[in-house]
Amino acid sequence: MAVQQCLVLIKPDGLVKSLTGNIISALSETKLKIVGAKIVSVKRELAEVHYSDLKKQKPQVFESVLKYIQGDFHTNRVLALVYQGENAIKKIREIAGSTNPEDADPTSIRGKYGRINSKTGVFENVIHASDSEDNAKREIQLWFSPEELTETIYPIKKQEKTQEVRIWA
Ligand code: ADP
Repeated sequence: MAVQQCLVLIKPDGLVKSLTGNIISALSETKLKIVGAKIVSVKRELAEVHYSDLKKQKPQVFESVLKYIQGDFHTNRVLALVYQGENAIKKIREIAGSTNPEDADPTSIRGKYGRINSKTGVFENVIHASDSEDNAKREIQLWFSPEELTETIYPIKKQEKTQEVRIWA
């Protein structure tokens, strides 16, 4: 089995419930390597692109899911992580559990900590994990720039940057 990457998001409910440590501990059982990590305040544009497939597949929940990942129900923070190693996607998704927390294995992350919000109907399942190599590549390139990762996992190109940046005053 080849080395894979997988984007993991600890969603706003995971952060609000102080589950970051528990989730990272559970994932450490995979012995995979973390090659990127950052806290992100999710804007609508990022959420829309991240969940672009969901718009077609599950239009009935799309708007609520966008609100959920942007933090409208919890906090506007997500912890984004990139894991790397053999068979990373299957290993992580097994520990994460099924999308619906009521169907998830009770010992999985979603089984333990997830819930269905009775007001919105959203599966608040505390974690996102890429489900294929193609999606992992698309998602990692969406959430991270090459210099934010400790390894060059996809081809890069160089470009002059003239954009204004913020620095400490
Ligand atoms: P996964 O996150 O397991 O890859 P999807 O990509 O299908 O699953 O869905 C993205 C997210 O949207 C889910 O993690 C969950 O938070 C929410 N979601 C998906 N399907 C439903 C549904 N039928 N009802 C409520 N929320 C849903």
